[in-house]
Amino acid sequence: MRETLLLCPRKPLIVAPRGFFAPNNKKLTDKAINCKFEAMREGDCLDDALRKEILREDLKRRHKGKKIIPARYRMKFPEIAEREYVRLANEYMAIEKDVLLKYIPELKRILDEGTQYNTDSRKDNEKKRKTARFSGIDNTIVRLGILFDSMQKELDSAFGLYDLKRRVNDIANLDHKLTVAEWKKAVSRTLGIDILSDYYSGDFYREMLAKWVSANVDLIKTVSKESLRSLKEKVYSDYMNGRSTTDIVKKLQRQYGMDKRRARLIARDQTAKLNADITQSQQRDAGVSQYKWSTSLDGRVRKSHRALGGKIFNWDEPPETDGGRRCHPGEDYQCRCCAIPIFDLDRLDLPV
Ligand SMILES: [Zn+2]
Repeated sequence: MRETLLLCPRKPLIVAPRGFFAPNNKKLTDKAINCKFEAMREGDCLDDALRKEILREDLKRRHKGKKIIPARYRMKFPEIAEREYVRLANEYMAIEKDVLLKYIPELKRILDEGTQYNTDSRKDNEKKRKTARFSGIDNTIVRLGILFDSMQKELDSAFGLYDLKRRVNDIANLDHKLTVAEWKKAVSRTLGIDILSDYYSGDFYREMLAKWVSANVDLIKTVSKESLRSLKEKVYSDYMNGRSTTDIVKKLQRQYGMDKRRARLIARDQTAKLNADITQSQQRDAGVSQYKWSTSLDGRVRKSHRALGGKIFNWDEPPETDGGRRCHPGEDYQCRCCAIPIFDLDRLDLPV
């Protein structure tokens, strides 16, 4: 029988997973053998569906008839990808800082000249400055506007030299590679089979990554654009409210620090989201409909997620988390939880 199979002209039996066929073929169950017979009788070769059917039967036999098998491995968070993204966010924001520092002396000059009451000493109160600035406000606002426009232009050209898209693309590929590697580990340690990682580089995942890359390029650009805009607004309103130049510059630097932190949070959040999306697609695609919620192993797990830890959920029905929001592990802001797959051998569909 085996010889017949191997003679099949279109697709010989070369696709069996490692350790699946014993040399004497004794490992095959009756049902699997019947499947093969039927396929041959109809003049087919071992197609995908049949191969998977044989795999399922073999796994059930190996797991002594058990059909529902939770993964024995907790997939690790793609920390290297996260670090790379945080590094990128820092670098990108550093470009903004350089431009900012370059323009601060000019900014101080405009603010100082903007008031006839030209002083910045502590004993001059805000009210005095506010009144004194009235006559010069129009001119100062125009000058500030021009200053911020030049900053924006300089920032745009500096960002233009920075290969943002390629860098974000590298991070997406790294995140993807790490997530696939962890998935392979979960499958091999639980079911004892090796899956083909090439499968996860197909069109579906390529598109998913491309979408993430373009959304993230936009996101990073927006953060820096918004940052400059909010700096400008802060300077305007502080100036009108009679704040001293020293105060205004200090607040400007504090705001920049906040924007930088925000960029880093986005980096962490987005890496986790991509990881969560890939994980969900991999599991659903493999016929996994349920997972066990596993909380992050660090001490920063939020209360609502701790309550979900260890419970089983359906990929079609995300559980409720904070504020009635429904989501899967890794989808909530800054969430490091993980979805441990529960394999259902009757529905298993893996690229082997
Ligand atoms: Zn969580």
